[in-house]
Amino acid sequence: MPERGHHNLSAQGTEYYTQQRGRRVEAVCQVRHQDQGGYKTHGTKKEGINPQEIIDKYHNLNKGTFEKLGVSFDMYHRTSEQLHHETALDFFQRLNERGDQFEIIDSEQYYDEEYNQFLADRYIQGTCPKCGYDSAFGDQCENCGSDLSPTELINPVSTLSGKKPIMRETKHWYFKLGEHNEWLKEWIETGKVDGKQLHDPKTWKKHVTGQCMSWLNEGLKSRAITRDLDWGIQIPDESSKVLYVWFDAPIGYVSATKQWAIDNGEPSHTFILVDKTGEVVWIKDYGAPDNPNRTMYVEVEELVSYIKTNLGN
Ligand SMILES: [Zn+2]
Repeated sequence: MPERGHHNLSAQGTEYYTQQRGRRVEAVCQVRHQDQGGYKTHGTKKEGINPQEIIDKYHNLNKGTFEKLGVSFDMYHRTSEQLHHETALDFFQRLNERGDQFEIIDSEQYYDEEYNQFLADRYIQGTCPKCGYDSAFGDQCENCGSDLSPTELINPVSTLSGKKPIMRETKHWYFKLGEHNEWLKEWIETGKVDGKQLHDPKTWKKHVTGQCMSWLNEGLKSRAITRDLDWGIQIPDESSKVLYVWFDAPIGYVSATKQWAIDNGEPSHTFILVDKTGEVVWIKDYGAPDNPNRTMYVEVEELVSYIKTNLGN
């Protein structure tokens, strides 16, 4: 059972419950390196601190805290591990080689001339266009909770140099989520993919199904899966581009489970999510990147359902 971020305690509860019902469960935790490398380090870059030092610090702090709380894991993994880099790139390359899954789009994004880099959403602050809060981030206003894009901010400022960023052209890989709309709808509504029953939709929470269906009925849109950053998983032949967290982080469940399988002498192929399931994991984050409450049940239930279906008891 993978878990992450704020979900550890609830996942631990689900693990206990599932074990009590006689099912085999392994608790696998993965910690996202871009959460730490991208978000938590945005204030330290100016001070010349290496993101690795930051993620090591938080990794040990979190691990020790869970131990003190009596929360245990069969595998406590992190997406900065080499195994995760290889696994995430394998997903990217397989999808890229298919030729119909990504589109490469040129667009203009904010760039800090003093630091010579494009700015991740969290590196930009400005006034929220919805509520007027003057320290909203490029992806979200933490005062009113609105999801934002950096270009919506009024008077944007780079958090690195403190100066107004300029617009500069760059290109990114966009995952064509719309191509998956139909089978996903069927999978969520009926539990079937290609005629095979993978889960019982009646066991899903109504608000989870409702949230997924509202995105699907609106039609999923292509979404960028790369970023111009110097920290993360570099994509081949593009040294300045890395996989963006929403694509890379869910694959962390796969790589953490692979590591668990290696350490325990289990056949790792048994535990790897199939392509379509992997894509579903990414899609459930769609539209709610920083809202764990909206995604938690899908994550846990989908994977419990997967484990039940594919691994038996
Ligand atoms: Zn606001």
